[in-house]
Amino acid sequence: MRGVAVAQRLENFIGGEWVGASGGETFESIVPATGETLASFPRSGAADVDRAVAAAKEAFESWRLVPAPRRGEIVFRLGELLREHKEELTDLMTREMGKVRAEAGGDVQEAIDMSYYMAGEGRRLFGQTTPSELPDKFMMSVRMPIGVVGAITPWNFPIAIPSWKLCPALVCGNTVVLKPAEDTPFLAERFVELLAEAGVPAGVVNVVHGYGEEAGDALVRHPDVPVITFTGSRETGVAVTKAAADELKHVHLELGGKNAIIVMDDADLDLAVDGIVWSAFGTTGQRCTAASRVIVHQSVYGELSSKLVARAEQLRLGPGWEADTDVGPLINRAALEKVASYTDIGKGEGAKLLTGGEAVSGDGFFYRPTVFGDVEAGMRIAQEEIFGPTTALIPVTSFEEAVAAANSVEYGLSSSIFTRDVNTAFRAMRDLQAGITYINAGTTGAEVHLPFGGTKDTGNGHREAGQAALDVFTEWKSIYVDYSGRLQRAQIDNQ
Ligand code: NAD
Repeated sequence: MRGVAVAQRLENFIGGEWVGASGGETFESIVPATGETLASFPRSGAADVDRAVAAAKEAFESWRLVPAPRRGEIVFRLGELLREHKEELTDLMTREMGKVRAEAGGDVQEAIDMSYYMAGEGRRLFGQTTPSELPDKFMMSVRMPIGVVGAITPWNFPIAIPSWKLCPALVCGNTVVLKPAEDTPFLAERFVELLAEAGVPAGVVNVVHGYGEEAGDALVRHPDVPVITFTGSRETGVAVTKAAADELKHVHLELGGKNAIIVMDDADLDLAVDGIVWSAFGTTGQRCTAASRVIVHQSVYGELSSKLVARAEQLRLGPGWEADTDVGPLINRAALEKVASYTDIGKGEGAKLLTGGEAVSGDGFFYRPTVFGDVEAGMRIAQEEIFGPTTALIPVTSFEEAVAAANSVEYGLSSSIFTRDVNTAFRAMRDLQAGITYINAGTTGAEVHLPFGGTKDTGNGHREAGQAALDVFTEWKSIYVDYSGRLQRAQIDNQ
């Protein structure tokens, strides 16, 4: 079992060994607050993926036979190690990904929670037993591991999302090849180091760094990888689905969002503003559940927008590791340019720029918290995922109009309503087309023991976290045991 010595970092982890890319090429991880290089990593290709998959395939034959409670104990130990290393990982995350300290700690905490939760699954993984229609016959269903899981993750939750995928995959008895985001390879590497330290045997978890179109695509197409679990953009999700189609792989997708907060005329407006600021500008708007739309009843629109603008203008931008920073940088220059382009699009569409709308000069990728007013539900800034600190205020005159606006987008991840009317709240829970609905809270704040994911183009019907995650990483087997000693024909001999 490998230790966590610094000198051994910055490589692929294959079959329990730390190795460079076979082509010898590297890429760099950049600190988004300063533009400095943090470390360099192997730029892997198909040959490296082949090696990792071969190691995972071989390890599967013994890992699947390790009793699930024992697999759970290893994942529990991962939770303990994450807890011990929480400060260090939090600090690294403020540098490599850029989120502020409190949120970086929350990201690590989510992985701790997931480790503990999925460790417990090792002693459950419940199936069903049911009576047979025939005498002296027993029936049950059990969850079976599938094989090598290819896990492809984004940069915005660099510890939490790998844990959402790897903890259930491992407890269920699969082995894994992880291709982490190229913007946050260091954090993925630390996560895998801790898994190895927790006692995961060689080959059970492998990490292959590199670009999506190279290492990622090779993993998706590999014939010995029957399951792909992918979190990222809608566009890449479609490409992954097509690439996996010929092999009829299981593909689990968690994609984008265009999440709305509805503020009704009876809402607690100060509470609503708290929720909007946290959901729209937390993680610099780079959450799949970020509130990039606020649908506001006309009668409170003026008061809410002036309170929101005042709060947005108080937010302090800075590096995530500084204690008084409210909003960190965007992940990279391309993200900064994308957010800026949507400011131009919004202005061009006739929306009113109420605050923000500009980058901060300097080496880091900072963009001011931006609020657009007088937005119409069909405008591009109200339809397309921006993934930055930009939110659009959409005035409406009724609950029905609010729900129609909320549901008018292609995505269906998170949703929220602020109201004091219990009837309105229950109608919203029923009518909002989303995988998640919050009442009197913003659009972010999922906990690990409920299913996480979205409807419509946010995914393909699967869910991460909670019991639902087990369905991604296992296949049902139905077992019939006939102890009658004679041939008994179902549907015939019981008539
Ligand atoms: P992305 O799609 O660009 O990249 C995600 C991962 O896919 C990266 O590891 C990347 O290297 C890899 N990739 C890229 N092209 C690939 C290809 N052709 N084949 C295989 N892999 C490929 O997304 P991103 O910019 O890293 O993340 C932001 C997106 O992720 C947003 O759309 C956001 O909403 C979404 N997201 C969704 C959830 C969710 O649970 N629904 C959570 C977080 C982020």
